[in-house]
Amino acid sequence: MIVVERTADGGRKILISGGGRCNILPSVLAPDRFVTDSPAPLLRGMLRAWPLARMRQFFEDDVGIPLALEEDTGKLFPASNRARDVRDGLVDLARRRGVTFQFNTTLQNLARDDHGWIIETSSGALRASAVVLATGGLSVPATGSDGTGLDIAAALGHRVHETYPALTPITCESGESWLRPADLAGVSLTVRLRAKWHDHTTESHGGFLFTHRGCSGPSVLDVSHVCVRSRAEAASPRAVLRASWSALDATAWDARLRASDVHVATVLARELPERLAHALVAAAGIPRDRRTSSLTRSERLELVAHLTACELPWTGDEGYKKAEVTGGGIALTEVDPRTLESRRAPRLFLCGEILDAFGPIGGHNFAWAWATGYGAGRGAERC
Ligand SMILES: Cc1cc2nc3c(=O)[nH]c(=O)nc-3n(C[C@H](O)[C@H](O)[C@H](O)COP(=O)(O)OP(=O)(O)OC[C@H]3O[C@@H](n4cnc5c(N)ncnc54)[C@H](O)[C@@H]3O)c2cc1C
Repeated sequence: MIVVERTADGGRKILISGGGRCNILPSVLAPDRFVTDSPAPLLRGMLRAWPLARMRQFFEDDVGIPLALEEDTGKLFPASNRARDVRDGLVDLARRRGVTFQFNTTLQNLARDDHGWIIETSSGALRASAVVLATGGLSVPATGSDGTGLDIAAALGHRVHETYPALTPITCESGESWLRPADLAGVSLTVRLRAKWHDHTTESHGGFLFTHRGCSGPSVLDVSHVCVRSRAEAASPRAVLRASWSALDATAWDARLRASDVHVATVLARELPERLAHALVAAAGIPRDRRTSSLTRSERLELVAHLTACELPWTGDEGYKKAEVTGGGIALTEVDPRTLESRRAPRLFLCGEILDAFGPIGGHNFAWAWATGYGAGRGAERC
C-alpha cells in the first residue's frame, strides 16, 4: 500500500489540532450534533462502524498512545499533550504494517484502466486495484488540503454538496454597535448561544472569547456555520445570533438587580468579566453611574434582555483561512455506508472531511475521520 501525500510529512492538521495538543476523540460521541445535508441515518451508521471504545483501544494499544480525559470539557488528549506523538505514532504504525509513504507528491487525477486505477501524480503515474481518496476539505489550505480531491470526485460523477467554512470565528466589524472588539478583546467566559436562521435554531454552550476582530471559542465555532450559510444566501435574511452571558436566566437576573442598592455594573460584574459588564450596561442605554435602586422598569427589562438574549452584531466570518473544517462535500448517498466504497466508481473509497459531514468541537471531527478512514481501509483491503 502506498500513501501519496502532497506535504513533506503529512498529518499537518493533527499537528496544529487542539492548540498543539490534539483533541484526538470525545469521551462521549454526539452523533445528533453532526451537520450534513445528506440523510442523517447514513451519517450515524458510518460513525457507528468503528465504535468509540474501539477507536480508543486502537490509539492506546496499537498506536501506543495513552489517552487522558480533560474532565471539564469531556475531551480526550494524548497523555503527553503532544499532537506530534499522534501524527508520528500513526505514521510509524503504518510503516510497521507495510505502508510506503510517497511525500511531496500531489495527486492530480484518477483515471480508470482495465485493472483498476491510474493515479496521476506530480511525480508520474501509479497503478492500483483500489484507491482511498482522503484528501480532506478546503480549510486551512496551508496544511495541504485545497479541495483537489473534491474536484476529482466531481469529475468522476459524484454529487458534491455545496461546501462552506465551518467551525470558524465570527467577525463583528461595525463601528456603530455596542460590541467594539478593541475594547473587549481577550475577555473570555462561558456562554449559551442561539443561532436562528429561517425557522431553525442551533444552540451551543461553552467557551466564548472576544477577539480583536469579533468572537471565537467553542460556543461560537459550533454555531458559525449557520452564520456562514446565511451570508451565502443573499436572498434571505441573515442568521440572528444571541448570547446568554451566564448561567442566570431572566428571572434570576431580575431578582439580583432588585436585591441591593449598588452600581448596576457591580451586580453584573459579580457574574461576568468587568469589561463586559460595563459594555452591556452601556449597550442597554443605562448611564455608567446608575444605581440599581433608581433603575426604571423598562431599563431593567432592557438590561435583562442584554444579559440573557443579547444580539451579537456579527458582520462576517474568518472563512476557510481559520475554519477547523469544511461543511458540505461528497453526498453520503454516493457511498456504501458499510465499506465507504463509491457508488459511482467501483474500487474507489472515500473518507474523512471530503464527505458531507462535520461535527462539533470536542474531538468529533477526528472521530469522523478515524471511523470513516477505518471503514474505507477495510473496504479497500477486500479488493
Ligand atoms: C486548526 C485546527 C484544529 C483542529 N483541531 C481539532 C481537534 O482538536 N479535534 C478534532 O477532532 N478535529 C480537529 N480539527 C479538524 C480535523 O483536523 C479534521 O477534521 C481532520 O484532519 C480531517 O481529516 P482528513 O484526513 O479528512 O483531512 P486532512 O487532515 O485535511 O488530510 C488531508 C491530507 O490529504 C493531503 N492532500 C490533499 N490534497 C492532496 C493532493 N491533491 N495530493 C496529495 N495529497 C493531498 C493533505 O496534504 C493532507 O495531508 C482541527 C482542524 C484545524 C484546522
